[in-house]
Amino acid sequence: MARAPFVIAGTEIKAGTRQTVEVPVAKLYTHTPLHIPVEVIHGRRDGPVMMVCGAIHGDEINGVEIVRRVLKNSTLRHLRGTLLAVPIVNIFGFVQRTRYLPDRRDLNRCFPGSESGSLGGRIAYLLRTQIMEKVTHIIDLHTGAIHRFNLPQIRAELKNPETVRMAEAFGAPVILNASLREGSLRAYADSQDIPVITFEGGEALRFDDVVITSGVKGVIRVMRALEMVPSKKGPKAPRKRSEIAAMSMWVRADIDGIMRPVAKLGQKVRKGQRLAMVADPFGETEVSVVTPISGIVICVNNLPLVNEGEAIYHVARFDELGEAEKAMDYFRSSLDPEMTEAVLPVHPWDNDPK
Ligand SMILES: [Zn+2]
Repeated sequence: MARAPFVIAGTEIKAGTRQTVEVPVAKLYTHTPLHIPVEVIHGRRDGPVMMVCGAIHGDEINGVEIVRRVLKNSTLRHLRGTLLAVPIVNIFGFVQRTRYLPDRRDLNRCFPGSESGSLGGRIAYLLRTQIMEKVTHIIDLHTGAIHRFNLPQIRAELKNPETVRMAEAFGAPVILNASLREGSLRAYADSQDIPVITFEGGEALRFDDVVITSGVKGVIRVMRALEMVPSKKGPKAPRKRSEIAAMSMWVRADIDGIMRPVAKLGQKVRKGQRLAMVADPFGETEVSVVTPISGIVICVNNLPLVNEGEAIYHVARFDELGEAEKAMDYFRSSLDPEMTEAVLPVHPWDNDPK
């Protein structure tokens, strides 16, 4: 018997076909209607229904490109189950190049939302009723804030074994067991027992090829683990792709000043090691910023102008730092050196695995 069609926003997508559906959201006050475009790939055979979404924070654009490249991947021809790709959730913020909605709310704090609420609540409600209630798995794509560059990492609540399976399959070098923020898409999905992982990589308003490539590979790997697409033939992947962090902390500047970074993204640092220098413009007052924990640098602030108390480095601590290093080494070895050196000469990666 043929698989039943997938229905979204009144559109029926037959098994074995794909279609872009415009899900109506709201009208602009110019009377122009606004839609969230969703690409539905409805496989011929039954399987998981996975949503992959980007730009719920409108300026976090790496995810938009990750979705585009996933949709081009030829392995989707063999799809089992259904893929719902939502490249731009926060259409308003994306157009305005901002994280927020026009009323300055954060859409990722508006869940579960309501039909008659404010704009954010309505978009959350729409996403929930039109899409999230139909899915079995979610990958939510994010980047660091503006001027903050995240190492590719997965954040997830690691209580649900299916969530753990997705987090490990993704293969980002670091996994953070991140508590749920009230009102976030992830918290809502978790409350409905939908396994959900958040990918973080790069910074807002920038594309980064290393991050985008690891995001695309990660989404496909999760689909393989869920048997939505066929597994790769050939030698088995190495065991150590990711390591789960025990905790993470932001290291802050002790004085106002101009920062000179010393530690690089992905670098192993020891407790007490210098991460950066901060000095006034005359160099009269100069202070080292040191890390109070050993670990791996998972986010760097790349704006050198800092205020006292500003978070400038994010360091993850591991029970087995050596295992985290192995995961970082594998991650580096999986990158095309030309991609990191020739294409991105001023790239924040530490490619020197010392
Ligand atoms: Zn975000």
